[in-house]
Amino acid sequence: MGDLERYLQVLAAAEPEGRFLELRYRLPVGMGQRFLPAVDVEGAARLVRRLGRTRDTYVGVALRERRAGARSAVGDSRVLFVEVDAEASARLLARAPRPPSMTVLSGSPGHLHAYWLLSRSVSGPEVKAANRKLAHRVGGDLASVDETRILRPPSTLNFKHRPARPVVLQSLDTDRVYELRDLMRGLEDPPARETVARPRPVVALRRRSAPDADGVDALLRAIPSAEYVQRLTGLEPNREGKVSCLWHEDRTPSLHLYPGGEWCCFGCRRGGTIYDFAGALWDVETKGRAFVELRARLADVFGVAPQPTGRRGARQRQRRVAPGAIAAVDRERLRARPAASEKGGR
Ligand SMILES: [Zn+2]
Repeated sequence: MGDLERYLQVLAAAEPEGRFLELRYRLPVGMGQRFLPAVDVEGAARLVRRLGRTRDTYVGVALRERRAGARSAVGDSRVLFVEVDAEASARLLARAPRPPSMTVLSGSPGHLHAYWLLSRSVSGPEVKAANRKLAHRVGGDLASVDETRILRPPSTLNFKHRPARPVVLQSLDTDRVYELRDLMRGLEDPPARETVARPRPVVALRRRSAPDADGVDALLRAIPSAEYVQRLTGLEPNREGKVSCLWHEDRTPSLHLYPGGEWCCFGCRRGGTIYDFAGALWDVETKGRAFVELRARLADVFGVAPQPTGRRGARQRQRRVAPGAIAAVDRERLRARPAASEKGGR
């Protein structure tokens, strides 16, 4: 039996009759989805192996009760899991209350998936709650604990990298089977703040800022995060669009810069918009009077001038429909006057 068969066997071990393995794989546009009878591990392995040679391929960790990937289709499961996205993953995993039953190297440097097998099946919500506590303990990704999660199986290739890197079964010990209660003993929930999986800055910003009367908000928010982080810190994003976090030791960059102007650190869960970044960097609050000053300071650094106000300005702004167009215009202006934009940055 190959590593892939052994892996799928672990997922299918608990009551496979009448249940399905969910298979997802990347298509030129979007994702494909298949549901394979969990009793036929050999058949599922053949398809996964074939797909996994040419595209990113994933398997739902929990078996599905019917041919659907929705939460309501996720059945009871005996498998807990955590994604650790750090070079120090081995050291972090040593903080787990019990050694994992299985570990898989996902192909990204330092990125590892750890699995713990339970002696009896637990419900989807119980899986998620337990995964969160484990992730909190070992510094795993709190955004990757959901019971509907799909993960990369071994013997496939990870095409996030060029050339593609193999996904490898690092260890498997099926004798490591735990009582949920034993495994959870002494583990705690992460603080509520950390449960926000991804920043939702636009909503947050609208809530706390004044109406964007002079257009400065729109211009600042349209600056890509890679651009403002580099300008404010001098840090250059790596090929994955990440930089080392400024708020803790972070040898493997975990601060992810999204193209839309948002950022999120998967180490410390900080994240948000240009305001949240600059506010944390300069130790300035992002609400009230401090926010107004923060915005003015950023406008100064990035050479963003207030747009015409009054009735004429309002009419002009109404004519601009696409925020992307505003950003492009503004970036042109930035390039045109680099000297002016440096003053005010510390
Ligand atoms: Zn961080």
